[in-house]
Amino acid sequence: MTSTSTERKYYLPEGLPAPAPHIDDLGKEFWDGTREHELRVQFCESCQEFQWGPEWICYRCHSFDTLTYRTVEPRGTIFSWERVWYPTHPALQMGVPYLVALVELPHAGNIRMVGNLLGDPEQEVVIGSAVDAVFEDHDDSDPQYTLVHWRTV
Ligand SMILES: [Zn+2]
Repeated sequence: MTSTSTERKYYLPEGLPAPAPHIDDLGKEFWDGTREHELRVQFCESCQEFQWGPEWICYRCHSFDTLTYRTVEPRGTIFSWERVWYPTHPALQMGVPYLVALVELPHAGNIRMVGNLLGDPEQEVVIGSAVDAVFEDHDDSDPQYTLVHWRTV
């Protein structure tokens, strides 16, 4: 099995819309963290639980003013995954197949986040496998941003 993805500068092909984080939005702390190669997720100081994705309200205790961010270890396990064969954007025409993983963070309340799974797109993927975050800097973008991908350990 071969892959051309390792020859590209970035994991995903050129031409896709950039995530362009908004500096005032809920995700600012997450995006600031990725620039420093840290994984920051929401934490409720009232009920002492993590949650993801970012919300204005804690979805457990319904507090509005108790949500903060905590830096957590950038590793997890594969909870679910899919191999994408259909290019949903013209830029992905040469970028399929690719792997999308739902990664669970056992040390952060088992919250789950979606990301690309790096490596051979036709690799065997095993539920429960350990994965590490891979921070991909886009220093040549304005504004600069850093994506979080995942790779099996
Ligand atoms: Zn709470």
